[in-house]
Amino acid sequence: MKAAIYPGSFDPVTYGHIDIIKRAADIFDSLTVSVLNNKVKTPLFSVDERVNILKEVTKDITNVSVESYEGLLVEYCKQNNAGVIIRGLRAITDFEYELQLAQTNRKLGDEVDTIFLTTSLEYAYLSSSTVKEVASFGGDISKFVPPFIADMVYEKFGAGK
Ligand code: ADP
Repeated sequence: MKAAIYPGSFDPVTYGHIDIIKRAADIFDSLTVSVLNNKVKTPLFSVDERVNILKEVTKDITNVSVESYEGLLVEYCKQNNAGVIIRGLRAITDFEYELQLAQTNRKLGDEVDTIFLTTSLEYAYLSSSTVKEVASFGGDISKFVPPFIADMVYEKFGAGK
């Protein structure tokens, strides 16, 4: 049984993340989408909100579960018997950071490997930060996130749309 973990901030989850989730779920027997509880960052959505949003988005994919975690990712993978970390690659700019992260994780725990899925072209430009920036100015984010998430994002910026 091949289990993988897809960690990230998902603040908020976008169509780019959802695309990676669906593709990874097709490859592995089980996929856990894991929201990083990062005390350093100030997120738009709380960890619980992000977990609930991801649960809603993945409710029809039977081999996907959603959790949160804090601390060392490789330790979390070991506790969950997951040998693979999934990360998405959009552009060369992602590559340098992701390579460093993957190599660090490999040094910390050599029973865990990172596998990269390259973004689908239609989502190559898409990031959670762009979504938040556009929404903060009242722009249209309907091409970036599912409708119920768009509503929640606008609400956070005090502009019920
Ligand atoms: P983090 O803060 O850990 O980078 P993110 O939520 O921004 O978390 O992203 C989680 C993972 O999803 C990262 O590997 C990131 O490169 C990938 N990702 C983000 N947006 C996209 C996208 N549009 N297409 C493919 N992968 C993406």
